[in-house]
Amino acid sequence: MTDLDSAIGDADHGSNLTRGFRAAADAVEDDTESTPEELVKKIGVTLISKVGGASGPLYGGSIMSASQTLNDGMTAETSVAFAEAYLEKVQDRGNAQLGAKTMVDALTPAVHTYKKSIEVDDLRPLTALAKATAAAERGVEFTVPIRAQKGRASFLGWRSVGHQDPGATSTWFIMQELLSVADQYLDGEVDVGPESPEVPDETPTDESDEK
Ligand code: ADP
Ligand code: MG
Repeated sequence: MTDLDSAIGDADHGSNLTRGFRAAADAVEDDTESTPEELVKKIGVTLISKVGGASGPLYGGSIMSASQTLNDGMTAETSVAFAEAYLEKVQDRGNAQLGAKTMVDALTPAVHTYKKSIEVDDLRPLTALAKATAAAERGVEFTVPIRAQKGRASFLGWRSVGHQDPGATSTWFIMQELLSVADQYLDGEVDVGPESPEVPDETPTDESDEK
């Protein structure tokens, strides 16, 4: 992330996020009392105080605000609400449109894919998260040939073309991490779909549709 940010920014994105997420992990590690909403809020608050730069308030502030959607706990439904609220907050704060070469370019397809996978295709959250992560990766690739219109990279104008956006990349990395953690803890505990190989009738249809 720092290499990417040295090409079109000020080379601090990797160190910013490393410092912030280490502190966030420390803040919640031994917390067995807090609700999901409180835990996620704590992560947001910690990121705000530790990350700095443009990405600190974007990541931290948006996670903090969106944590309210987890008021009723973490379910497939509230996770969609969280994802949507998070995207909305990032856009409110940063005012970046799709195609401005920012984290929004990875986040938007990821959130839309996650919502559709859960609400329309009726996929399990883990499958939905895997699809959303793949969508984020395509969003990262999309940032390479376009010109930055927000943040530090926009100062370079056309010289930003050909470089991958650091913030879109970190969004994708975070989703990869979410997916791998969810894979360890979620499978078999999800309320939609059985853990046995017996799958609901509609699932094979969904999958063949996707091919
Ligand atoms: P800074 O640019 O202050 O050094 P970082 O290096 O931590 O902050 O983060 C840079 C990343 O922040 C960019 O790659 C971009 O994805 C994201 N970013 C910058 N400005 C905006 C914005 N207005 N909206 C959304 N994301 C933005
Ligand atoms: Mg930077």
